[in-house]
Amino acid sequence: MDASDPCLPLLTGPPVIRAEGVNFYYGEGEARFQVLFDIGLEVAPGQLVVMTGPSGSGKTTLLTLVGALRSLQEGRIEVLGHDISKLDRAGLVRVRRDIGFIFQLHNLFEALSAYENVKMALQLGGKLSAAEMRERGVAILERLGLGDRISHKPRALSGGQRQRVAIARALANRPRLVLADEPTAALDQDSTRNVIRMFKELTVEDGTAILMVTHDHRIIELADRLVHMVDGRVVSDVVLNDALRICEFLKGIDAFKALTPTELTHVAERMAKRHYMPGEVVIREGESGHELFLISEGEVKVERSDHEVARLGPGDFFGELALLSGDPRNATVSAVNPVETYVLGEADFHAAIGASANFRDQLRRVYFLRH
Ligand code: ADP
Ligand code: MG
Repeated sequence: MDASDPCLPLLTGPPVIRAEGVNFYYGEGEARFQVLFDIGLEVAPGQLVVMTGPSGSGKTTLLTLVGALRSLQEGRIEVLGHDISKLDRAGLVRVRRDIGFIFQLHNLFEALSAYENVKMALQLGGKLSAAEMRERGVAILERLGLGDRISHKPRALSGGQRQRVAIARALANRPRLVLADEPTAALDQDSTRNVIRMFKELTVEDGTAILMVTHDHRIIELADRLVHMVDGRVVSDVVLNDALRICEFLKGIDAFKALTPTELTHVAERMAKRHYMPGEVVIREGESGHELFLISEGEVKVERSDHEVARLGPGDFFGELALLSGDPRNATVSAVNPVETYVLGEADFHAAIGASANFRDQLRRVYFLRH
């Protein structure tokens, strides 16, 4: 995805991470070996991106490069609008301050209590008064189930509790980007559920972008995107978020190319996914029509007065006639095999054609070709 991608506005603002052509090597001379190959990755605000892949595939190395914890060797990485290869030491420190890190070796300060560890992060953020820090720090520890551990030193905490202190510390400043390496690995069921809810809230409410290595299926279910790495390469990058997926799909359909990126995004956000089983009727001849259907998977049969007149498949849409003319449905459409459709309601349909004469003309053209 690039900045001109019409589906990016779903997650507003310029990308939080933009990596391009990143190669990385460990070792020197003879022993030098490459662990990352031509990595390209772009993450938008509000996106929860889960990175998976076998052990040794380079996930942690990539996270540390993005977090400016390791020097870039080849390629380009922009984080929060900064080209990190161009930053001096002070610049790097400032960028890191806007990132919430949750890594496995959570180096909590052993001499400080759980609260003091969180407070350190809040002090570095530098935006809060002492009273606000206390309030925010205690609240986040309580939310993570550590209300009765606030004054404990790390050595008096279990592995899972330490991990939760590290999470509290990383999130306390409401960073614009969170980088997390298997953040729930040491956690029990309840804490995991809690932490996942916090991650999702951050992305939805604060627009925080999260790039996370995890194999936890409960997080994967909530992810907007799944990036899979094998042997130092991104081998798949799949969008899971419905609105984003629908937008990606609409982009490829001629009639929808008439819409501007903003209009396309609006339509995608208002479409609902609906499934039909083989034989199931989607619309029926003679009934009034209030929805436009776009087929994303499967095939439908179009019948008029019990005669089959057409078959439609992925990328085809139907139901536009009744919406354009106000007449009853002129055909019955039923699923031939399992069908997935994206459905646009009447009001949103009219809003879309009202906003774009071009789109209306495209739909009319399809309509005249068919009738
Ligand atoms: P993952 O997080 O996917 O398990 P890593 O990024 O940790 O993968 O490791 C990628 C490759 O780089 C592996 O072959 C690993 O052994 C190697 N590696 C990781 N860290 C170092 C290091 N500090 N020095 C040398 N090799 C390393
Ligand atoms: Mg790792």
